[in-house]
Amino acid sequence: MERTLVILKPSALQRGLCGEIISRFEKKGLKITAMKMYRFTPEMCARHYSHLTGKSFYPTIEASMTASPVILMCLEGVDCVEVVRSMTGCTNGRKAPAGTIRGDYSMSLLENIVHASDSVENARTELDRFFSAEDYFDYDSPAFNYIYSTDD
Ligand code: ADP
Repeated sequence: MERTLVILKPSALQRGLCGEIISRFEKKGLKITAMKMYRFTPEMCARHYSHLTGKSFYPTIEASMTASPVILMCLEGVDCVEVVRSMTGCTNGRKAPAGTIRGDYSMSLLENIVHASDSVENARTELDRFFSAEDYFDYDSPAFNYIYSTDD
């Protein structure tokens, strides 16, 4: 089963949107297998957004991500990385389609509520950055046979 990292950013926490967003993932049928609160340091922010540290706007990303705690989650499911990215919507909240998380809750390019890993390989790296083996929970979900068919 594929895994991905979701971060409920300070914009989600400060606006009281975490419950609604977690609920969307649950209703979709994705399984939460790890979850914790976390406070980004500038160093961890630079590691997580290493592809953007050279950009002129990077200082605004650091200020935004370190402004308050975040919630880190590991979600599990078939094709989870792609499914969660499509639920998240494109980076700019003003351009993200209605029905996506960013499209429904964000009016901003920077303050766009959630992070979601963009590939299976990056998901692995990002999950390893924040979670260790004992943070994961393996449990049966009685609804499993109603979320997936035998063909999935
Ligand atoms: P995504 O989060 O959609 O995968 P990126 O990895 O390109 O997008 O960017 C990481 C985060 O950096 C974005 O979610 C957004 O918060 C912020 N960001 C990206 N581009 C800009 C920009 N041009 N100006 C301000 N913030 C940006």
